[in-house]
Amino acid sequence: MSGPDVETRPSTIAGQGLFARRDFAAGERLAPYRGPTFSAPPEHPQTGDVFALEVSAGLWLDGSGADNPARWANHSCEPNAALIWHGAAEGAWLTSLTPLRAGDEITFDYGFSLAESLFHRCACRTPACVGRIIAEPLRPALRRHLRFSRPRD
Ligand SMILES: [Zn+2]
Repeated sequence: MSGPDVETRPSTIAGQGLFARRDFAAGERLAPYRGPTFSAPPEHPQTGDVFALEVSAGLWLDGSGADNPARWANHSCEPNAALIWHGAAEGAWLTSLTPLRAGDEITFDYGFSLAESLFHRCACRTPACVGRIIAEPLRPALRRHLRFSRPRD
């Protein structure tokens, strides 16, 4: 994707990433996050790539379609954006949590459960990284879990 605001290119976190092409203030909409919505979590694809995210309580969005370049945005344990649901008419948008500079990689919290986190390593390399992709409120529980057992890879 190449647009005036964001672009996709290889990321040091994982695969492709989504990057700002201009400066943004905190609280700006960065890119729409498009896809069909479901009232139950979709099955995980066998590839291990997971794009279905819970965008509001009890509502999942499958952003894996080619018409959703924002699907390349990576997870980070210190995200600079959030996925915000604006209702059926407007859909979901990645929105900046902090000011962004042109060239910054756009990251957000995938909000994974503890079970999902065991299959998804995080390589965001931020000081807060817990090594697994997991929702921020669950990270203390994961840290306790990792203290007593080695997670599966
Ligand atoms: Zn991390």
